[in-house]
Amino acid sequence: MKLASRLDLIKPSATLLITAKANALKAAGRDIIGFGAGEPDFDTPMTARQAAIKAIETGFTKYTPVGGIDELKDAIIDKFKRDNGLSYKRSEIAVSCGAKHTLYNLAQVLFEEGDEVLIPSPYWVSYPDLVLLAGARPVIVETREEEGFKLKPDRLDRAVTGRTKALILNSPSNPSGVAYSKEELSALGEVAARRDLIVITDDVYEKIIYDGLEFANILNACGELKDKTLVVNAVSKAYAMTGWRIGYLGGPEEIVAAVVKLQSQSTSNPTSIAQKAAAAALNGDQAVVVEMAKEFQRRRDFIVEALNGIPGVSCLLPQGAFYVFPRVSNLYGRSFQGKIIGNSAALAVYLLEETGVAVVPGGEFGHDEHIRLSYATSMKNIEEGIRRIRAGVERLA
Ligand code: PMP
Ligand code: GLU
Repeated sequence: MKLASRLDLIKPSATLLITAKANALKAAGRDIIGFGAGEPDFDTPMTARQAAIKAIETGFTKYTPVGGIDELKDAIIDKFKRDNGLSYKRSEIAVSCGAKHTLYNLAQVLFEEGDEVLIPSPYWVSYPDLVLLAGARPVIVETREEEGFKLKPDRLDRAVTGRTKALILNSPSNPSGVAYSKEELSALGEVAARRDLIVITDDVYEKIIYDGLEFANILNACGELKDKTLVVNAVSKAYAMTGWRIGYLGGPEEIVAAVVKLQSQSTSNPTSIAQKAAAAALNGDQAVVVEMAKEFQRRRDFIVEALNGIPGVSCLLPQGAFYVFPRVSNLYGRSFQGKIIGNSAALAVYLLEETGVAVVPGGEFGHDEHIRLSYATSMKNIEEGIRRIRAGVERLA
């Protein structure tokens, strides 16, 4: 069968692929520690679950408006005001089936052939492919580990060409965990404004931020960008609601209307009962979110120290999200049973097959010298996983 050639532009999501592989091995009886896909290992808050049950029981199970119900839009408007100091009207909000879908929609309505979209690396695996699917060209702007994996304004400026349409920012970042300060964002915002860029800020890890750091996005730092900034968020990470598939967007009315038009011909509305649950999570007691972030910080402290204790491995301290992105390239060139481990993919295969630990190769995020571990798993798993990695590294010749 000849499939559409646009499929050749992309590859399957590595994060999801590795998780599926780890799960398949587990189902086959292997003892696997999964540091693969990042999703909180907590339960969805009770208020959200109850709202969904109520929605089912009261028959709130039909089509809703394509861009989301007013109740959820109002909860999102309140959230933007309360947490981010940003004001939106209902017509400036669109709800979609997860942040990935929001980003897909944005790429489809904003980008086309000839456009370049700037993506700082290391980047979340899906950004380049979403841009490619829209027919545009992802332009990777490398950041340096020595600079804490932060995009510098002069680098951003140099990457802009006559074709540059947009910049995608993600803070706290998947996979590096780096979080930008308001001052740093203000300097990037100055370049974005001067170069007339659209900015997509992916704030899904906003709530998972450590050491008392205050979250800021580029709009907080640079209010004049409002006409050209799309704020993307979701209930997935903040409320451990990855399976409910609710993401949302705050942005200029014209772009929001375009997203809704596209959605009306693709998914129609996001699931009615999940919308009710999302509204309840956003309107509910936010203490659960703080507790979850505290626990993630405890795990971060442990895993960073443990990784840095493995000879040949070094790891920066992330300021947010639930990933670590250790440098492992000092191990490249070593071998197991005569087979040389030469890159992050080979190391990930070795760790999975020989030690039963699933990690994602850094090459998938644009930095082959690294691997990514999600510590959204129990402390017990983290301790055992690290013990296995250490033993695996020691076995390499
Ligand atoms: N952005 C980033 C940076 C992510 O890590 C993820 C991972 N899930 C998403 C967006 C997509 O989130 P959702 O599950 O809401 O689609
Ligand atoms: N965002 C998570 C990750 O990067 C979930 C999987 C995905 O959607 O990529 O692991």
